[in-house]
Amino acid sequence: MANTLVYLLDGKIYINLTNRCTNDCIFCLRKDKSDVKGQELWLDDENSTAQDVINQFETFEPAKEVIFCGYGEPMLKLEELKEVAKYIKEKYPETKIRVNTNGHANFVYKRNVVPELKGLIDEFSVSLNGATKEEYDELSQPKFENAYDEVKKFIKSCSNEDISVVASIVEGYKGRHLDLKKCEEIATDLGAKFRVREWIVNGY
Ligand code: SF4
Repeated sequence: MANTLVYLLDGKIYINLTNRCTNDCIFCLRKDKSDVKGQELWLDDENSTAQDVINQFETFEPAKEVIFCGYGEPMLKLEELKEVAKYIKEKYPETKIRVNTNGHANFVYKRNVVPELKGLIDEFSVSLNGATKEEYDELSQPKFENAYDEVKKFIKSCSNEDISVVASIVEGYKGRHLDLKKCEEIATDLGAKFRVREWIVNGY
């Protein structure tokens, strides 16, 4: 394996912090593929430090946007995420930093971690994936109860902190269709923008 902690996609730098996740989404790319456009995202182990990430990051040309998103939930390595984001913000203040997350972090850490990320993260993209708990559970297969409520609370925590937040859904996976209008209303009520990702076979 390659231990790809940092990779480039469409001119943006992506950071692949972990392969762990508190969901087991039925559409998760990693179920079917071990790479994204040829980049192997299964990690050798979970022991990489922030400095390991920074060392790989510095081998790339600076990009306008950096996204924490890989084969796992990046917020499960919160301290490393914060350290890397702080490094990027200090060295490349113009770079926009986004985190793609399942929105479970406040449940995992038993505290509201969003204020700790203010000034480091410019935008969160949170997987809403459903207008109801039932829809969410079917698509996301969370590993704990009441995950849907936790996701909504996380989105609200972001908007409460005035951090840009997008609630996203995957639409059309193997013929499954969500109530888009209701999903959008939920997103708007939580202070988030709304994004629909149409399912395509390779996921991108
Ligand atoms: S939240 Fe993301 S990494 Fe986790 S199972 Fe779902 S798609 Fe995969």
